[in-house]
Amino acid sequence: MKVVEIKDLVKKYDTTIAVDNINLSIEEGEIYGILGPNGAGKSTTISLICSLLNPSFGEIKILGEDIRKKSISIKRNIGLVPQNIALYRNFTAYENVKFFGELYGLRGQELSEAIDEALEFTGLLEFKKKKAEEFSGGMLRRLNIACAIVHNPKILIMDEPTVGIDPQSRNNIMQAVKELNRKGVTIIYTTHYMEEAENLCSKIAIIDNGKIIVEGTKEELKDMVSDKRILNIGVDNVYKVNIENLRNIEGVIGVSIDEGNVIITSSKEVNNLSKLIKEISEEELKINDLRFKEITLETVFLSLTGKKLRD
Ligand code: ADP
Repeated sequence: MKVVEIKDLVKKYDTTIAVDNINLSIEEGEIYGILGPNGAGKSTTISLICSLLNPSFGEIKILGEDIRKKSISIKRNIGLVPQNIALYRNFTAYENVKFFGELYGLRGQELSEAIDEALEFTGLLEFKKKKAEEFSGGMLRRLNIACAIVHNPKILIMDEPTVGIDPQSRNNIMQAVKELNRKGVTIIYTTHYMEEAENLCSKIAIIDNGKIIVEGTKEELKDMVSDKRILNIGVDNVYKVNIENLRNIEGVIGVSIDEGNVIITSSKEVNNLSKLIKEISEEELKINDLRFKEITLETVFLSLTGKKLRD
């Protein structure tokens, strides 16, 4: 069953097109990753799915229902973990989760059990009487998640939930996401960390400048660039490299500079290695390292956009 269907979605701000004609559909049971650099349009897409923003154009259906109907069942079925932590700092962990549980209509024993379960799930049960203001950044993020799952939503939408937190909390969040998914929750997960998308997501859409560049399983995405290879050449005085000359060499698809390295995306079919090295040597530059990069989602992004994910 399709849990989310997005058709021709556009969101314009005054001068920016934040979401530029996105089409996607998410099947039940998926951990669907939206991977892209800062400013790619991830948060805007999430806000549109959750009806926090109105689209400039296009259509969104959740569990087959158009979100413009603003039906209560849609709201009940979605849990949102926003990027900006939305908690009451002088409430305890328990009171924070309770607040959200009550918003969704839970009462009495059902409510208190749901709160404990959500806190247990995020590893916070032992801190339930502590005020949020005493929590570390990672614990606040976990509490944010507890608040989003207290009503047992079918779909959990998480907007970059691990930015700027300690490894233990990150690990806890990743495990929680996998466990929720095993229980049948469909997850939509935005991130600019390709390792997270790679480890977690059953399907990934890579977005840049408001557009989906590619979509598929990580294997499918990697296959898309299997006809290319990425050469990393470490050079002293890298700023002297003549990028234009490199770009003009047969088979070269893209050239970028990353710290002391020249990164060249090239077709596998053309053996241009000696020409590339000759070109760099002609500038009397010292090559200090030479290797092919392993194909990861980062290199997929690089070879498709010519940019690094974390520029
Ligand atoms: P991401 O979540 O991938 O970092 P966003 O969806 O936050 O990206 O932003 C996409 C683009 O829209 C960016 O260029 C951003 O500057 C712009 N943008 C986001 N929110 C607003 C806003 N309220 N007003 C104007 N421009 C915005």
